[in-house]
Amino acid sequence: MELTHIEHIGIAVKDLDSAIKFYEDVLGLKCYSVEEVKDQKVKTAFFKIGQTKIELLESTEPDCPIGKFIEKKGEGIHHLAFHVNGLQSALNDAQNKEIQLIDKNPRKGAEGLDIAFLHPKSTNGVLIELCEDKNKI
Ligand code: ZN
Repeated sequence: MELTHIEHIGIAVKDLDSAIKFYEDVLGLKCYSVEEVKDQKVKTAFFKIGQTKIELLESTEPDCPIGKFIEKKGEGIHHLAFHVNGLQSALNDAQNKEIQLIDKNPRKGAEGLDIAFLHPKSTNGVLIELCEDKNKI
């Protein structure tokens, strides 16, 4: 597969508003977008630093993946997202190499990106998101 850069780092937070305040008031970044992704039951806030974004994730329902993650592990880094050219073929590639996929086909994520996750069981414990911004190609 052809990765181009780290697209974003996903961080699970309990309270989006107070986390945004930390990133703005302490770290001096500017939140440029807050978006609810209904099918993932999360609210997201985005910051940009260089080519990489920080994605803060707050669950909107306790039984969603972010809610469960925080219940088990507390707040913290949730996933690492790489931008890839050719998401579907990257997924096929990973599957051929017997990597466990959470998404066999791309789906829509925040910011209109096509996204898919690789299972942490196959990736040394890191939840890896592959994403492709077709608007930029
Ligand atoms: Zn993400």
